[in-house]
Amino acid sequence: AGLPGTVDVDSAAATVRVAGGIRYAELARRVDAHGLALHTMASLPHISVAGSVATGTHGSGDTSGSLATAVRAVELITADGDWLTLDRERDGERFAGSVVALGALGVVTSLTLDLVPAFGVRQFVRTGLSLDVLAEHFDTITSAAYSVSLFTDWSAPRFGQVWLKCLDDSGP
Ligand SMILES: Cc1cc2nc3c(=O)[nH]c(=O)nc-3n(C[C@H](O)[C@H](O)[C@H](O)COP(=O)(O)OP(=O)(O)OC[C@H]3O[C@@H](n4cnc5c(N)ncnc54)[C@H](O)[C@@H]3O)c2cc1C
Repeated sequence: AGLPGTVDVDSAAATVRVAGGIRYAELARRVDAHGLALHTMASLPHISVAGSVATGTHGSGDTSGSLATAVRAVELITADGDWLTLDRERDGERFAGSVVALGALGVVTSLTLDLVPAFGVRQFVRTGLSLDVLAEHFDTITSAAYSVSLFTDWSAPRFGQVWLKCLDDSGP
């Protein structure tokens, strides 16, 4: 968090290079000012890009990969003090192994992420989905929207809420 808060947007390439400690709420505002967006967002605004990517969190729906899938390049300082950049196009499996790395490879100083054109979402919430119905229609339910999240409180064999986020540019 003490590193400079770099957010360098390349509109032509639809990418952004960010400091590892940037939080998603701040990043989303900065890229939105350029008419761009991340393909998916964390449900928590305050988590860091480096921490979320390193732990492979927050993915929802069948076609929208987790936050880590947006990474094009990782810049890190390794234990012996080297400054290393690993790039998706150039470094193949070495790059792939460096993204969801649980902080084990070094300190991630910056990440370069893919962006998409800015878009709106409209959310529908369904309640009381039983485990039986989910099991029978799993693929239909998880593909029913751009982003699908299922929540349970473990008190019964059911999901208390299903959040369905659909792409919607019609405004609030
Ligand atoms: C209330 C709550 C609800 C949540 N809900 C969800 C959910 O619905 N779905 C989901 O997927 N996750 C969920 N999470 C988990 C959340 O996404 C994690 O907090 C996230 O993975 C880590 O982000 P962070 O900013 O807290 O990272 P940190 O805790 O800062 O980092 C996590 C780990 O990443 C590594 N790391 C962090 N920064 C760096 C760096 N610069 N260089 C190298 N390694 C680094 C370290 O190993 C660190 O231990 C939830 C968490 C909470 C508290």
